[in-house]
Amino acid sequence: MTSPHTILITGGAGFIGSALARHLVADSDYRVVVLDALTYAGNKASLPAAEGNNRFEFVHGNICDRALVADLLAEVRPDVITHLAAESHVDRSIDGPGAFIETNIVGTFSMLSAATDYWRGMEETRKAQFRFHHISTDEVFGALGPEGFFTEETAYDPRSPYSASKAGSDHLVSAWHHTYGLPTLVTNCSNNYGPYHFPEKLIPLMIIKCLSGEALPVYGRGDNVRDWLFVDDHVRALRAVFERGKVGDSYMIGGNSERTNLQVVEVICDTLDQLRPRADGRSYREQINFVADRPGHDFRYAIDAGKLKRELGWQPAESFETGIAATIRWYLDNEGWWRDILSGSYRGERLGAAVSV
Ligand code: NAD
Repeated sequence: MTSPHTILITGGAGFIGSALARHLVADSDYRVVVLDALTYAGNKASLPAAEGNNRFEFVHGNICDRALVADLLAEVRPDVITHLAAESHVDRSIDGPGAFIETNIVGTFSMLSAATDYWRGMEETRKAQFRFHHISTDEVFGALGPEGFFTEETAYDPRSPYSASKAGSDHLVSAWHHTYGLPTLVTNCSNNYGPYHFPEKLIPLMIIKCLSGEALPVYGRGDNVRDWLFVDDHVRALRAVFERGKVGDSYMIGGNSERTNLQVVEVICDTLDQLRPRADGRSYREQINFVADRPGHDFRYAIDAGKLKRELGWQPAESFETGIAATIRWYLDNEGWWRDILSGSYRGERLGAAVSV
């Protein structure tokens, strides 16, 4: 790729997009432009400072607004688009699936259609290097039993409104590659965790509830299994894929860190027992409280990331133990970041318990 180059990150004010933006501003010479609608999940406080920084720019806008996207592409002239903007929380998709269809499917269509027009008009050398990288989830493959792994060959079988909307967007990206020749890449990643994670997700929610002395709500018996990946490892995988991945291909990204939800909560309790002991000297484990399961809760997700390792040399640098300890320390050291969110629209309440919509 010629240098200097420009990357557009949609959803860059969210958890993973902001980690990608911080990484590229700190550790590359990309010019980074973030497009984000700043929904409840977007937060400019997670981003590098734009003021006085000629390699970082923030644009407030909605990906569903095709004219806005087309104008932005003409102005910014990106070499890479990493598409992360999405409604991302399964529980919210159960309570209100409409926004998921709108942003994840209609919004991806808007991005693809504007990107295709822009790419067709590019000068030949830059056109050959252009990439549209769509960031997706392993949840599109449905649930596994106790054995087996998702691979690039696994058939799609989404079960929640969230995963169905992401599956729809993956298929649109594939169609734009096969039909119009758009140079696309797709990555399907397992559950991420790390700094700047919105407090409705399992790991930050449990850390914050521990510190607030509240009950720790664990769905069912806590035996659902997820494969956890530290967010900065995900960012390094994304960079390997958009810089060196094979056009038209998809890649699985996982952390080799399968844990039951109960194991995750217990590790958080035990780490906090060490780092910030309760005033009464008892363990945070006493706050664990089993609650009714999520409707349609997929039992297990697990990833075989062998293709990414073989072809692009990527593997996670963090183990679950080192990553979770770093994450907990970050939440202890950055109370201002999450307290500002809790004083806004989200109060740590249960979402997605609805049995009908
Ligand atoms: P997030 O919810 O933290 O961030 C999403 C961002 O998109 C927010 O900043 C939000 O303001 C923005 N956004 C939402 N609707 C928009 C719209 N219409 N126009 C412009 N911006 C909009 O999500 P995340 O956890 O950072 O996930 C990013 C992507 O990675 C998503 O596509 C998600 O499906 C995928 N993914 C996430 C995980 C995970 O564990 N978090 C795992 C695999 C894949």
